Amino acid sequence: MAIVVQKYGGSSVADAEKIRNVARRIEASFKKGNKVVVVVSAMGDTTDDLIDLANKINPNPEPREMDLLLSTGEIVSSTLLAMALHAMGYSAVALSGQQAGISTDSSFSQARITGVEPERIIRELDKGNIVIVAGFQGITPNNDIATLGRGGSDTTAVALAASLKARVCEIYTDVEGVYTADPRLVPEARKLDEIGYEEMLEMATSGARVMHHRSVELGQVFNIPILVASSMVEKPGTIIHGGKNMEQKNKVRGIAHDMDVAKITITGVPDRPGVAAAIFTPLAKACISVETIVQNASANNITDLTFTIVKKDIPRAMKIIAPVAKKIGAREYRSDTKLGKVSIIGTGMQNTPGYAAKMFQTLFAQDINIQMITTSEIRITCIIAEDKVKDAVRALHKAFELDKG
Ligand code: ADP
Ligand code: ASP
Ligand code: MG
Repeated sequence: MAIVVQKYGGSSVADAEKIRNVARRIEASFKKGNKVVVVVSAMGDTTDDLIDLANKINPNPEPREMDLLLSTGEIVSSTLLAMALHAMGYSAVALSGQQAGISTDSSFSQARITGVEPERIIRELDKGNIVIVAGFQGITPNNDIATLGRGGSDTTAVALAASLKARVCEIYTDVEGVYTADPRLVPEARKLDEIGYEEMLEMATSGARVMHHRSVELGQVFNIPILVASSMVEKPGTIIHGGKNMEQKNKVRGIAHDMDVAKITITGVPDRPGVAAAIFTPLAKACISVETIVQNASANNITDLTFTIVKKDIPRAMKIIAPVAKKIGAREYRSDTKLGKVSIIGTGMQNTPGYAAKMFQTLFAQDINIQMITTSEIRITCIIAEDKVKDAVRALHKAFELDKG
């Protein structure tokens, strides 16, 4: 009997009727003779609601308690889904991340899965149970519950698929697959039949939240194909895999965007060895991850330095930078939280000139100012004003003819 791993996201289990719908889908797979393991996210906006509630009680909640709190969202949905299956006459068992054998490191709120011991799941499957696992969580070496970062249930699913040697990991969500851009922003976006791990990884890390980026990384490492499809309609979806020769003609595969960008600029920075280390070491110690760094060419040994982080980290980062700026003798430092980024992604761009120029021309034609630029071999990203992101995505989608199949 084949092991099937399915994951259902928050909007797919948002209320009792949707949970029953998911239970019927699980029933269909089980009736085909599969051993079924299901990972669920928290219902609807539960995670956001719990974060808001915690912040009302304490604006600086302890990460350990925060993770324990957030992990309850997935416990609720997993138990309710098991109950829905019981009501339909099936044997099902709900397991927390810990009970499912998922170990993580100790980085609360962004823990990495360090191992999976699937014995309990296998035992339950052998007893004829459908296994429902609470996504987004695992157990640290200290026996604490840690969560995997927003969207992390995808990663739980792919990790389980890898450890159970499933043929494919099925991710069911509120769209019909991976599109050429966020279909909520670009109505003309096209669903892709397939996409390679590399491109999907760049899309995910550039803001396409349809897949948690670490789930794609794990899929690639363990060579697990990932199917992304709708939890509501029976349509083929998108397969993420490592195959070659996929739609080679279409050199830009997709546009990703992210509204969660803020920057800190430090001006009048003395240009001498050790200054960058003095700025970025304390940020790293505070687990603030810095994305893009731009340092101007210096004039008279004085330079300006700008870097981007996620918006919520700005207050903490500004506190850290205050004494550092003073110590290194910088002129001033300031932040801007009204930024976003837009990226074009495609393996076909490798070693082919003209893509950056076309991107910049397109943004210029929309009167959009580019504040920072970063690239990888298969991605070009522009940091722009937050309120221009929508226009930028739509214009780039059209310019690179992604609406045409
Ligand atoms: P789930 O709760 O099922 O995990 P998410 O909200 O995390 O669902 O991810 C699905 C959402 O991702 C879609 O509703 C869509 O708005 C967004 N999205 C962003 N970029 C893309 C893309 N390129 N293709 C499909 N969906 C995308
Ligand atoms: N519930 C978590 C979140 O909202 C994890 C997930 O949905 O994958 O981010
Ligand atoms: Mg998600």
